[in-house]
Amino acid sequence: MTTTTASTCCYCGVGCGVLIEHDDEHIIGVKGDPAHPANYGRLCSKGATLHLTGDLTARALYPELRLGKGLARSHTDWDTAMGHAAQVFGQTIAEHGPDSVAFYISGQLLTEDYYAFNKLARALVATNNIDSNSRLCMSSAVVGYKRSLGADAPPCSYEDIEQSDCLLIVGSNMAYAHPVLFRRLEQAKADKPDMRIIVVDPRRTDTCDIADMHLAVQPGTDVALFHGILHILMWEGWLDRRFIDEHTGGFDELKTLVRDYTPEMVSGICGIRQDDLQSVARMIGTAPSFLSLWCMGLNQSSAGSAKNSALINLHLATGQIGKPGSGPFSLTGQPNAMGGRETGSLSNLLPGHRETANAAHRDEVAEYWGVDSLPGNVGLSAVELFEGVRQGKIKALWIACTNPAQSMPDQTLIHEALAACPFVVVQEAFATTETCHYADLLLPAASWGEKAGSVTNSERRISRVRSAVAAPGEARPDWAIVCDLATRLEAQLRPGQPSLFDFDSPQALFDEYRGLTAGRDLDYSSLSYALIDELGPQQWPFDASKQKGTARLYADNRFPTDDGRARFIAESYLPHKEQRDARFPLTLNTGRLRDQWHGMSRTGTAAQLFGHVEQAQISLHPDDLRSRHLVDGQLVQVKSRRGELILPVLADEQIRPGQAYIPMHWGNRFLKGLGVNVLTQPLFDPLSKQPELKQAGINVKPVVFP
Ligand code: SF4
Repeated sequence: MTTTTASTCCYCGVGCGVLIEHDDEHIIGVKGDPAHPANYGRLCSKGATLHLTGDLTARALYPELRLGKGLARSHTDWDTAMGHAAQVFGQTIAEHGPDSVAFYISGQLLTEDYYAFNKLARALVATNNIDSNSRLCMSSAVVGYKRSLGADAPPCSYEDIEQSDCLLIVGSNMAYAHPVLFRRLEQAKADKPDMRIIVVDPRRTDTCDIADMHLAVQPGTDVALFHGILHILMWEGWLDRRFIDEHTGGFDELKTLVRDYTPEMVSGICGIRQDDLQSVARMIGTAPSFLSLWCMGLNQSSAGSAKNSALINLHLATGQIGKPGSGPFSLTGQPNAMGGRETGSLSNLLPGHRETANAAHRDEVAEYWGVDSLPGNVGLSAVELFEGVRQGKIKALWIACTNPAQSMPDQTLIHEALAACPFVVVQEAFATTETCHYADLLLPAASWGEKAGSVTNSERRISRVRSAVAAPGEARPDWAIVCDLATRLEAQLRPGQPSLFDFDSPQALFDEYRGLTAGRDLDYSSLSYALIDELGPQQWPFDASKQKGTARLYADNRFPTDDGRARFIAESYLPHKEQRDARFPLTLNTGRLRDQWHGMSRTGTAAQLFGHVEQAQISLHPDDLRSRHLVDGQLVQVKSRRGELILPVLADEQIRPGQAYIPMHWGNRFLKGLGVNVLTQPLFDPLSKQPELKQAGINVKPVVFP
C-alpha cells in the first residue's frame, strides 16, 4: 500500500517541504508539499528526482574495518566496529590529550546529529576540535551578521522577496543554487514590473535573465563595489540620516574611508562602467525597500567577512532593514548549515549562539550539561584541522556526512593528510566518496527518507525531517552512531558517572538541545516536535505566548549589541593575493550546476540529472580559446600553483576574457585529477576562517599526446 510522509528536501538551504510517496520498503515518488511555506508545492529538478537517487550499489551498507594501513577493509559487525573506534579514540586521548583527536562534520546532518556530536566533543572528549563543512559555506556570513548586527541571525524571510522593490543579488546564481526561491523571484518580478533586480557576478549566469542590471565585476572586488555605491549614496544624499544617528554607530569612520572610493576609482578596480555604478546606486538609494541576497560568491573568500560587512553597511546607511522587503539576507548553501550554527558546530561556537572564547557562555553550557567545565582553547577550523592532521598533531579523525577529499581547497595536501592520519573513521551513507577511500573504519549511515530529526532553512524556519522507509543493510541514523561512540567512551573517560548520552530518539536530543536556546536571540526553547507537527514549520525566535515564529528581525530598530545599535564596519578593499601573472594568466571561478549537488554522491546516481550538463568542463571566453589555438571540446591541461587537471574546454560568451569557470561537482571518480579543488588555495579569511574556493590563478594549455 502506498503511504505519504511529509518531510524536507535534503539538498539546499531553501528547505522545501516534500511529500514522500512510499510503500513499506521503497520510496516511489516525491512531490512538493503545498502546505510548506518555503516552497508551496514547488520543487526543482534535484528535489523532484530524490526518489531516483536510491541506488543501493552506491551505499555503505555494513561496517568495514581495516586492521592496518595498506590492507583492504573487511566487513565487520557494529559491536566490533564501535568497540574498535572507542578503543582507538580513548587510547589516543589518553596518550596524546583531547586535542589529538578531531571531528569534521556536515551541514547535511540534522540538528539532533549536530547536537550529539557537539556534546561528545566538548563535554566528553573536552576538545574544541570540531568543525563542519559549514565553514566552507556560511562562516563569513556568521561574522558579517555578528559584527554588524550583534547576532548570527539573517533578519529576513522569503516573503520579503515578493515585497521588495529593489533586489541586489551578489555572488549567487540563484537560478541554479536556490531554484525554488528563484521561481518565487521570477513570479514576483512578473507581478510587479517596477521591481528592480541587480545581479553582481563576474559571469553572466542564468540568474541574470531577470536582471535590470548585471554588473560583471572583476572577481574579488566586491568590497570596492559596495564602498563605491555608498560613496554615491552619500554624495547624492540618499542616506537615512535619522536611522544612522539613532540606531547605528561607526558611521563617521566609514564615511572617511569611502570618500576615496570615487566612481572613477571603483569602475577601474571592478572593471565596470561609471554610468552603471551610478544607475545601481540610484536604484538602491531611491527604492522604497531594498533587499540583498548573497551566497558563496561573497562567503567563499579570503576577504569574506569584509565583503559581508561592506554589504550590510549599505542597509544600515539607507535604513533598509527590519521592514517589509528590506534587509541583508544570506542564502544558505546546505540544508542545515543554519542548524549547525545554532547548535555550535563550528570550532569557535557553542550551542545556542554562544562562543567558546566566552567564559560565561562555557559555564552556562557546562552547567546545563552537568559537567565541571568546557575547554576554552581555540579549536581548529576546517583548513587548520586538516593541516593539523598533515602535521601529525591530529592522530584520530572522525568525518561524518561530508567529503573533504573533494571539497576542501588544495586537494593534494588534503589527500596527503588523510593518507598519513593514523586512524580515520568515515560515517557515511554513500561508499563512493573520495574520502571513503581513506577510511580505516567505514560506518554506514542512514540517509534522506530513512532518518528523522529537524533542519533550519535560510529564513530561520525549523522543519521536521521524517523517515519513510528503513535504512538499507545495517545503516544506522547518525545520532545513534554518535551516542554509541559516546557511551563507549564514557566508560573510559567518565567511569562510574551517569551517562551524558542517555538518548533513545532524535526527539530526546531535540528536547534537551532546545533548552539551550532559552533566553538567547534564537530562543525556540518552547518549540517541541508536537508543536511543529501542529502548527507547521516555524521561524525562530519562537514566541511561546503567541505560539508563533518571527518573520522579521529588528522591526523595532534595536539590535542585540551592548548599546542596542548596529555597527558600521570600515575596512578597505584589498586586492586578492593571487593576481593574474604571466605564468597563470587566467582567473578561475568555481560554482554549481543546476542539476548536481556537492560531490554528486547522491545526484550522481540518477542518469536524468546528467541531461543538463554531461561532464565537467572548463569554460573560457572564445577570445581566450583563439589566442591559445584551442577549439571547443578539446582536452586541455589546467594548471595552478598547486595542481593540475585535464578537462575538455568549452567556448562560453558568458565569461569575460581572462576568466575561467569549472563546476565544483566532479571529483576523481570522474576526472583525471582530484577535481577542481586540486587547483584552489588554502587561504582563508582571517576572521571567519572560510577558505578561498572561488578564485585562483591558472594556466590552460592543450594536452599533448605522446
Ligand atoms: Fe530541494 Fe533546494 Fe530544490 Fe528546494 S530548491 S527542492 S530544497 S534542492
